[in-house]
Amino acid sequence: MQNFPGVGVSPGRVIGTVRQMPKPISEPAAGEQLAAGTTAEEATAALKAASQAVHDELKARAAHATGDGKAVLEATALMAKDTMLIKGAAKLVARGASAERAIWESGSSVSEMLHNLGGYMAERATDVLDVRARIVAELRGVPAPGIPASATPFILVADDLAPADTATLDPNKVLALVTAGGGPQSHTAIIARSLGLPAVVAAVGVDDIADGTEVFVDGAAGTVTAEPDDSLRAAAEAWAATASLLSEFTGTGTTADGHEVPLLANVGGGKDAEAAAKLGAQGVGLFRTEFCFLERDTEPSVEEQAAAYKSVFDAFPGKKVVLRTLDAGADKPLPFLTDSTEPNPALGVRGYRTDFTTPGVLDRQLEAIALAANQSEADVWVMAPMISTAEEAARFASMCADAGIKTPGVMVEVPSAALTAESILREVGFASLGTNDLTQYAMAADRQLGPLANLNTPWQPAVLRLVGLTVEGSRAEGHNKPVGVCGEAAADPALAVVLTGLGVTTLSMTARSLAAVAAVLKTVTLSEAQELAKLALSAPSATEARAWVREKLPVLDELGL
Ligand code: PEP
Ligand code: MG
Repeated sequence: MQNFPGVGVSPGRVIGTVRQMPKPISEPAAGEQLAAGTTAEEATAALKAASQAVHDELKARAAHATGDGKAVLEATALMAKDTMLIKGAAKLVARGASAERAIWESGSSVSEMLHNLGGYMAERATDVLDVRARIVAELRGVPAPGIPASATPFILVADDLAPADTATLDPNKVLALVTAGGGPQSHTAIIARSLGLPAVVAAVGVDDIADGTEVFVDGAAGTVTAEPDDSLRAAAEAWAATASLLSEFTGTGTTADGHEVPLLANVGGGKDAEAAAKLGAQGVGLFRTEFCFLERDTEPSVEEQAAAYKSVFDAFPGKKVVLRTLDAGADKPLPFLTDSTEPNPALGVRGYRTDFTTPGVLDRQLEAIALAANQSEADVWVMAPMISTAEEAARFASMCADAGIKTPGVMVEVPSAALTAESILREVGFASLGTNDLTQYAMAADRQLGPLANLNTPWQPAVLRLVGLTVEGSRAEGHNKPVGVCGEAAADPALAVVLTGLGVTTLSMTARSLAAVAAVLKTVTLSEAQELAKLALSAPSATEARAWVREKLPVLDELGL
């Protein structure tokens, strides 16, 4: 057995065979010519055969897909045989370019043309780039880019995953996610938890495991073991049995002595919201609106936005839905708001700050939110991401008031906001702690970097202290405002207990984690949670904080969490 230690980010113990995520396809060199001895006719025939093969493969996958996935695959299959794309490439081959270079350049021209047409056509521009990479892969005889297709379930091993990869990730085929890079707050971690898949990140060396190797993944302990023995097989079987016990959430978050901590869901759109409502979420604590528009090059219209927002509100009639205004930037670029050449995007013009450089977009978003809220029965709260000062909070509150939005709030994810929570919360109605960013900024550790994973955990006593300060600020004389947590910390059942002890009023997480958090929370009283919070704050390191608290919560082991 060979062991690859990493950081566990989503619990579960499974065994399966490895499929490596193929490396991105590199651009064929500019000016690359036909190989000696290959005629233009032969290269054109190879090009057409490759385009046909890509078409057939995508079409075959579409036949087994459903809903949006099927439509996307069918449209992309057609694009692989697009006349303009193939004729353009054949012309370049006739002038002596290699088939790979020719399809690459022809793909760029078609994509640019679609982009310039705008609207629906512009959204197809990225499909052409995907198809051209697949044709180059076929010509080179290397695996196609993107999540591998497979008839049987597998363990996906990648360097890291981007939000866009989720579109083609079939949770019925993927047993677990393992990455060599990424941190506990990276999007791989967020994706894994939202799909309920066991996951380990920052596992150095896993990219060298051969396809087809059998591995055991423990998403709580953070280990990957190649060629597992019988004891690990038994552990995977035992987990499968307990996992089914955790599939039910009764719809209320309370401690053993009845202290209520509403458990809310993090969602990215209407479908997520419907699924969260089915899983018993008591409302939405974070609606990441930028997730509705990640593929867009242009600002969506007010009507289009209102329809996307209403689809979430409608899943929770009479319940609280906390919507976050567009958090564009860093790992979630939106071309109509962010500058891709910024040297340090995590510290750049992101979140609320995009209103400094692109005024108007936020006003129109608030208008769309008010429109959707007026047409729905949800209790809509609206918060701004990346607020750093009380002045920004006051300005956001006044923009909300102008749009007719009654409950403005802020995310506390920049340390300055936690330190000045008292004055910030004088300006707005509530705060929600974004512990993912709060951790990366408090520890000065990029949340996407695997080598910094041990710094980048919300178990860091420094981060817990900032949470405590925010709660203190919310209770200052003259006001008593709700402070929730909507970062990934809330989805860790042991940390959820600590956060409750620190005084946060709601916990918002991927809906898949609700049952586990509720099950652990109900085993402790509020004063026990407060004791555990003190214990974590007194620990000299994140590792000890986690270990000390976990030791006092034997239920975690019983449930395999
Ligand atoms: C956070 O930073 O904790 C958060 C919830 O926002 P996101 O992960 O979308 O940056
Ligand atoms: Mg954030």
